[in-house]
Amino acid sequence: MPIRAVVFDLFNTLTAPEGSNVAVFRASVREMGLAAGVDPEGFTRGWFELWRESFDGTFGTPEAGVRGVCEAMGAAVDEAAVRRAVEVRADFSRQSLQPRADAVDTLSRVRSMGLRTALISDCEADIPDLWPTTAFAEYIDKPLFSCMEGLIKPDSRIYLRACERLGVEPQDCVYVGDGSNQELTGAQGVGMRAVLIRTPEERAAAYYSERGSWRGEAIEALSELPDLIARGFSP
Ligand SMILES: [Mg+2]
Repeated sequence: MPIRAVVFDLFNTLTAPEGSNVAVFRASVREMGLAAGVDPEGFTRGWFELWRESFDGTFGTPEAGVRGVCEAMGAAVDEAAVRRAVEVRADFSRQSLQPRADAVDTLSRVRSMGLRTALISDCEADIPDLWPTTAFAEYIDKPLFSCMEGLIKPDSRIYLRACERLGVEPQDCVYVGDGSNQELTGAQGVGMRAVLIRTPEERAAAYYSERGSWRGEAIEALSELPDLIARGFSP
């Protein structure tokens, strides 16, 4: 079965690993709490406890996310405080969307091979707004964001929805990701070929990563992907 499309994860797959560093991420959430004028420790705890509501679109907007966390803490915030926290978040998100060194070139090569492209990202409500400003956007035919689809990986429906929008069967697709949220197992479950990106220099542990247990296809740089597809996955 020839490959017709590639479905990419966003964070730590197309983006540089530094942007997905857990310690930096935690520090930025704490800073949001400070900007909102609430207890930063409690805010950080609340933010992580309510990750699902952020990712599945329940909160809907970055502002509602901040308000939701503060409400859960029983802390009152005014609109100016919410806006300040959202600005801190936006700065962090823009940083975290910096591409891997080989990402844009790889996307361009994938497209020049005549392959269709999609993105499936588990993300919060600020990312779809920032997406058009990224270096990736022009190379991705169909971007899907969990917070807009109301589905989080590894829910099979989000992979099937990507296929539907691309007009291809799951068997025609390669899924590539860093293995967060059991995303590779999810992709494989619907019939996609799943590829783990595991670069040697990475130290930061991703959340809910399956990269330690993955026994399927793996690449050490995104730039290996076009060749892997071109040779039909044989060694
Ligand atoms: Mg990822």
